[in-house]
Amino acid sequence: MNNIPKTSKAMVLTEFCQPLQLMDIPVPKLNPGDMLVKVRLASVCGTDVHLANDELEMHPPTPIIMGHETVGEIYYLPDSIKTDVCGTPVKVGDRIMWSHFFDGTCYSCKVLHEPVLCEHSRGYGFSNAYELRGGYAEYEVILAGTDFVRIPDDVTDEEAVGACCAGRTVVCAFDKLYNCGGIHQGDSVVVTGVGPVGLYAVVMAAQSGAAKVIAVDLSETRLEFAKKWGATHVVNPKDHPDAAERVKYIRELCGGRGADVIIECSGSLSVFAENFDILSNPSKYLIIGQTSDKSVPIVPNKFQRHNAVVIGSHSGDIRHYIKALKFIQAHKNKYPFAEIISKKYKLEDANQALADMRAGIALKAALIND
Ligand SMILES: [Zn+2]
Ligand SMILES: [Zn+2]
Repeated sequence: MNNIPKTSKAMVLTEFCQPLQLMDIPVPKLNPGDMLVKVRLASVCGTDVHLANDELEMHPPTPIIMGHETVGEIYYLPDSIKTDVCGTPVKVGDRIMWSHFFDGTCYSCKVLHEPVLCEHSRGYGFSNAYELRGGYAEYEVILAGTDFVRIPDDVTDEEAVGACCAGRTVVCAFDKLYNCGGIHQGDSVVVTGVGPVGLYAVVMAAQSGAAKVIAVDLSETRLEFAKKWGATHVVNPKDHPDAAERVKYIRELCGGRGADVIIECSGSLSVFAENFDILSNPSKYLIIGQTSDKSVPIVPNKFQRHNAVVIGSHSGDIRHYIKALKFIQAHKNKYPFAEIISKKYKLEDANQALADMRAGIALKAALIND
């Protein structure tokens, strides 16, 4: 068993809109059942970029160690933990990923079976820096009772990390979509915004029997990715600057009747609103990408006239991590999942990683420890 280190390097968000600071954070005293992991790969989420700029709906107090998309290696394993949630035995050195902490006892957990709505959840990547629960660090504390899963040996860190946020978010959202009818064979699916979340929406729609998967994004690089991840058509709004013409063009790509399913992953308010004009009749509108607290006018009749089912979905629990990981494992030879990590940075270079994400240079940046 490894000795628990006294301190951990971490890149800390001490103040919003300011560069992260490299700090040595004392490793907190572990409670019974807590694990300590060594961070192997922590990918940078679009949410982190917004969090650092205080652009999210939530405003957690600083200092924060960000990073909620982390592949870690078990460094200290308490005697009480023998397996992951699937019953797979675990030992020191195994690679794992974990969900946020949900207490399992509140109304949302116990009655609704919706842990992501847990009234006492404790997040990774959003909490006080001195609790050492973020991936932008050398080590991370995994609270007792946190659901975690061992990463299969044939899935690399770069492939697996997609399941930690984008992949699990889409799996969770698709579960809700299936409760409302899902994607049928031959459907036309439009995905607006093909960053990491949109790419997983594209690939999972393509594997769900959609005849057309139409990716919409302003970035040619992202659209090229979307083609490799199963998009049958790509649309760059720059080529269709007139909104009415753009809507008509996308509706025609869908066979003239509009989209059976729209998946909004761009986070743009104007895209969110415009998508109502692309709906088929009837249709489903799945919203995964909206994180701001800003509003946009919409015409309620557009829901009604299209017999539209509008579904919002946020995050995911361990079921969705496991399913996303299995999806990646099953399809890794068909789709280049690892390529989602466009560049790796040393932990100390986290500010550059954030800047490159903000500038759109990196599809997904990832931090590594030496
Ligand atoms: Zn994320
Ligand atoms: Zn709960």
